[in-house]
Amino acid sequence: MKTLYYLSVAFFVLAACQPQKSDFSIMTVTGEIASIDMGNSLIHEHILVDFIGADSTGYHRWNKQEVMELVLPFLEEVKAQGVKTFVDCTPAHLGRDPILLRMLSDESGLQIITNTGYYGAVNNKYLPEHAYTETADQLAARWIAEWKNGIEDTGVRPGFIKTSVESGSLSALHQKLIRAAAKTHLQTGLTIASHTGLAVPAFEQMAILESEGVSPEAFIWVHAQSEKDLSTHIKAANKGCWISLDGLNENQFDHYIEMLQNLKKEQLLYKVLISHDAGWYSPGEENGGDFKGFTLLYDQFLPKLKQSGFTDAEIRLMTLENPMNAFSKRVREMKTE
Ligand SMILES: [Zn+2]
Repeated sequence: MKTLYYLSVAFFVLAACQPQKSDFSIMTVTGEIASIDMGNSLIHEHILVDFIGADSTGYHRWNKQEVMELVLPFLEEVKAQGVKTFVDCTPAHLGRDPILLRMLSDESGLQIITNTGYYGAVNNKYLPEHAYTETADQLAARWIAEWKNGIEDTGVRPGFIKTSVESGSLSALHQKLIRAAAKTHLQTGLTIASHTGLAVPAFEQMAILESEGVSPEAFIWVHAQSEKDLSTHIKAANKGCWISLDGLNENQFDHYIEMLQNLKKEQLLYKVLISHDAGWYSPGEENGGDFKGFTLLYDQFLPKLKQSGFTDAEIRLMTLENPMNAFSKRVREMKTE
């Protein structure tokens, strides 16, 4: 009963300050959808990742038709599980291919979401030259232009902002990326998902967002499962931040359940996102390398969660309501009290 009570409190909070109605929308690679049509989602996966570096990557590195033939069965698998929306987290200069994503969306019937923004981790290997020289405003102008006009000449528009920082304290360059993300958010309402890992850079990023007037409600702490100190999940979620536990694999079910129970104890499941960070086609490798599918969460982990005492309502919250609320486009300004 206590759980039910807390859940109804969570829903009340959601109803009070989060999108529940059709007047909110989410941008997919085939166009805008009403938020309520997002459905069961995978919020952090990859179709293709090209690790060669920003100086060498490009569409010449893979054949769209070949990638499509290889990846389509994996998308059909999740579609058959009842998943409606697939969030592709591959950023520009790491293999983002809007046309490929649109082809796959058309063929599979899945709603696919792509992103704008830059990836700073791995010693800036995936940053284009202009990321070093331009100001936060100039970078934001590029990302806002993708939102307004589509990516390159594809007409495909991003559904969120993807950034990335190193696991320690933020460098000046990465502070600039997050400032650019904040400015882009204020102009577009797009949610910021930042490859982060540990708590130190998570809180530093939130501080930058707040200083730019952006609420942590607009921020997804990507790879939060890497942080050992679970009290930081509670602290961040209480600030409004989305806690993305997105590296689910078969060896870590118990650890994921522990992290979820920790958040459940504090009635914070309404801030949790779950995914695999799986995939992907690797250009340059034979047949695109080893592709890891996306079925574990819905096939195996959710039943395990139920066995561990999580209710259907809580599962629906984490797989459907939370993705919808996290990715619904709206400006989330820092509230001044
Ligand atoms: Zn990823």
